[in-house]
Amino acid sequence: MSTTDNPPILEVSEFNVDYGYGDDAVRAVTDVSFSLGQSKVLGIAGESGSGKSTLVYALTRLLRAPGIITGGKATLRLLRQENDLPFDLLNATEAELRGIRWSQVSIVMQSALNALNPLQRIGKEFNEVLKLHDTSLSKADRKARAIELLALVDLGPDRLQRYPHELSGGQRQRVVIALALALRPELVIMDEPTTALDVVTQREIVSKLYELRQRLGFAMIFITHDLSLLVELADEIMVMYAGRIVERAPATHLYQAPRHPYTLGLMDSFPPLFGERVQMSGIPGSPPMLKSPPTGCAFHPRCAAAHDRCREESPPLVAIEDGQRSVACWLHDPTSTHEVPVALTRRHVAASEAN
Ligand code: SF4
Repeated sequence: MSTTDNPPILEVSEFNVDYGYGDDAVRAVTDVSFSLGQSKVLGIAGESGSGKSTLVYALTRLLRAPGIITGGKATLRLLRQENDLPFDLLNATEAELRGIRWSQVSIVMQSALNALNPLQRIGKEFNEVLKLHDTSLSKADRKARAIELLALVDLGPDRLQRYPHELSGGQRQRVVIALALALRPELVIMDEPTTALDVVTQREIVSKLYELRQRLGFAMIFITHDLSLLVELADEIMVMYAGRIVERAPATHLYQAPRHPYTLGLMDSFPPLFGERVQMSGIPGSPPMLKSPPTGCAFHPRCAAAHDRCREESPPLVAIEDGQRSVACWLHDPTSTHEVPVALTRRHVAASEAN
């Protein structure tokens, strides 16, 4: 299922990632396929260890040993290049990859504090990125562009003289987002960019990202453990558990009617970012150890709807609802005689609808 009717900017198929080799290998990402449309936002949600960060670091070839890509394909379309040829991410050389990082694809890492050099003023960060990737710019041009980029994220030019520790967490994250946009990439990957921030600042950053995407037209992959952050931002959401996609659907469909018990659990783990406060119930237990995953459906030890088949067979990801959604859960198998829990049949009302 594509996130759009336009040709996708990124296509991934049957992608696998292991940690370690031979008998010690642990499968961290299993059989992941998806595509991302131009200017679209794909949200990837899941708890720690679900494989969501491993997936994007592997796709962008930033995964460090002992992480290894063990199968699949990943193709990027460089739409701004004259020949518009597909770029094979997995077989590209380091030099070819350097040629697309920042200018075509940029990544915002989890902690803005780690992304910025603590001994360097913010202005120097911008100057270095722009100088390295766009030699046509003069020093004055680079400064003007840095000011323009800071303005995009509502920060004044005075921030260029500051060191990272002189900025708040939210301001640092805005600086990192502005840096990621410095060379007008077509795809921006955000790996839990709001995790360390308070709820009000999270809300501001998500609203800002939404506005920037509308204005600048880049596509985005936004990774988070907090599904509520994606409802307003993403076009499509992919939920991962134990390295697999367990549900994928347009954001509003997924939020209004989660079909996988894990998606429902994630939704009940975080208060909605917008709207009234509600009591959260969360998910019992912890994610599985990937070295010794449970038999059958990896979620069965934590799932209130688990039955015998779940403990024995792993459910495949199958399209339901006329292909609008995919889900990996035996409850949605046409041959299943098990009743779908009422919580998975009700329609949730998005905060934006309720207001
Ligand atoms: Fe729960 Fe079974 Fe569905 Fe897995 S397959 S999520 S254990 S009902």
